[in-house]
Amino acid sequence: MGYNVAIDGPAGAGKSTIAKLVAKEKGYIYVDTGAMYRALAVHFLEKGIAAEDTAGIIAAAREAEVSIRYEEGVQQVYLNGENISSRLRTEEVGNMASMTSPIPEVRERLLELQRSLARERDVIMDGRDIGTNILPDADVKVYLTASVETRAKRRYDELTEKGLACDYEEIAKDIRERDERDMNRETAPLRQAEDAVLVDSSDMTIPEVVETIVRLCR
Ligand code: C5P
Repeated sequence: MGYNVAIDGPAGAGKSTIAKLVAKEKGYIYVDTGAMYRALAVHFLEKGIAAEDTAGIIAAAREAEVSIRYEEGVQQVYLNGENISSRLRTEEVGNMASMTSPIPEVRERLLELQRSLARERDVIMDGRDIGTNILPDADVKVYLTASVETRAKRRYDELTEKGLACDYEEIAKDIRERDERDMNRETAPLRQAEDAVLVDSSDMTIPEVVETIVRLCR
């Protein structure tokens, strides 16, 4: 068994930014489980299946083979043998992932991949149900959150910096909808594990959050 750090929290809380930095400092592998749901979403979009077509989504999930490789320490996501890492971060893919991740068969498809990575390596794994469901015996559990306003502002700044036009109110609305779906679904809803440490990053800098989590690790 590797040393396992679980970070859960809502969309836009900064999980991946923080987890990558902690991984670097502690020599862990960073496992982004959202990217796995996004990879399945790419497959559903490619096949033109609507998120509401549950039977179609389940059938398509069965034929999608998601795997992970690490190239120079960076997670690469493969869908049926093709590296699709560069296609994962669009709003369209994120929304499709959020709409299809409540389906138990979709989650089941990724469970063993996530657990096997944690068995084999020292990992910091981020997602929604890592501390509650995937790695209930993780050595460290963190619930990382921030206010909707903070998360929307960060996303707005990130997109604006890339020169992309966007609307703050629209981003905030999207975040609220995604929270609602992730927290109120029946299967593996997003919630803080009883033994997780709550970190609210609304008024913290990135180095402060990293330091807080590093101190929890052995
Ligand atoms: O974290 P990220 O935004 O990349 O995740 C995309 C979507 O995948 C989330 O909105 C969530 O619905 C789903 N997800 C999940 N369980 C995880 C990771 C992501 O349900 N462990």
